[in-house]
This record gives sequence, structure tokens and C-alpha cells, in this order.
Amino acid sequence: MSVRPTDPELDREGQSHGYLFRDTVLGDVGMLLVRIWMDVKNPAATTGFFHVEALGEPDDPMTAKRKACFDSVADEITAVLNALPALNTIEDVSAILPLDTSTTVRPLHYRRQQSKDLLCAKCHQDAVMLYYSDARSTAELYDVARHSYAAVALASEMGAGLVAWVVGEETTSLSDDERYFPVMQFYPEYAPVRMYSKQEIAQLTSAAVRRHCPPTIVSH
Ligand SMILES: [Zn+2]
Repeated sequence: MSVRPTDPELDREGQSHGYLFRDTVLGDVGMLLVRIWMDVKNPAATTGFFHVEALGEPDDPMTAKRKACFDSVADEITAVLNALPALNTIEDVSAILPLDTSTTVRPLHYRRQQSKDLLCAKCHQDAVMLYYSDARSTAELYDVARHSYAAVALASEMGAGLVAWVVGEETTSLSDDERYFPVMQFYPEYAPVRMYSKQEIAQLTSAAVRRHCPPTIVSH
């Protein structure tokens, strides 16, 4: 597992710092937030608080896997931070994290991401939601799915039968006919990543739209 600071914008007040913990397969799995207050009357004294949690929506089945992966690290961090006499400076925290901080990861917000909803022709509810991104690995596809899960679950409350996929960055190829994209279904269930051409993605999604409200069979 690797660790990196969260988006610096989140830390703009200078007193709260976040770290994201990343698994090579599952993507970002957990987060540590540290907040430190300076005592105005006595600048030498500080108080702090920290919070560790696994990432993801409670309904997302991947959240349990992320939690299982992160729990022992979270326990270790909690033990280390609780053993400190005080949370003084953020340097203290980053120095004692028991993990490899050298790994560079592309932050999610740099990833091109675009969503497309396809409506059922019969009931006009969302039948398919597609999340296009430049995710290159399974871990990055999981990141996009985790970020999109709440929106998909909310849309699904309007009507059953919604299917959602993440589409990653195309693999390099010689011609247009040979362009393949990693595709992972993540709603209503997760499915393994598969490589599809643009045409196959169109076939896959239009079939799912047609399945949303199958034609009524009238029996005589
Ligand atoms: Zn429908």
C-alpha cells in the first residue's frame, strides 16, 4: 500500500492535512485527516485531532473490500498517533506513517471524466449510465466507480434496472479499428474488466437499454 497527501486545496487552511492510502489493485482505500489548532494565548501549545476511515459509500459492495484492506493500516496509524504526546506539527505525522510515501499517483481530479446517461425508450428512466475517464488500470477504474457510485445509486432509486459502466482510456493501437477500451460494470454488480471496441460498447449499452423494459408478451 502507498500513501500520498490529498488535494492541497483541501489543506488550504494550513492546519488540516489529509492522506490517501492506495492499494495497487483496489485503488484508494482509506483516508487519514489531521487537524491541528494553535493556542492563540500560548503559541507553543497545540491541540489536534485525527480521523481515519475507509473510503466509499456504505451500499457500495467494494467498500467492504476497501475496509478489509485498510483496517490493519488504520489500526496501526491510530496506535502510532495515539502514542504521541501531542499532535504538534504535520511533519511529525508524515514522518511516522508506516508506509511507502514515494509512490506518485495521478490525482483523480486530473482525470478526464465525462458521464453519459441513456434513457429507456419506454419508461424514460435512466437505463444506462456510462462514465468515460482516462483511467488506465483496474485500480483507477475502481476510483472512478467509487466517485460515481452515489450518483448511480441515487438515479437507481427512481427506477429499477439501471446498469452502469466505467470506460477507461483506449489502448494504443495502429488503426481506428483496433482501438480497445477497458470497460468495467459496477452497478448493480461489479464485473471483471473487459476490453471492448467503441462499436462493442455501443452494442453492449443499447442491449442494456432494450432490456430495461422488455416488450410485453400478450398471451391469448
Ligand atoms: Zn424502462
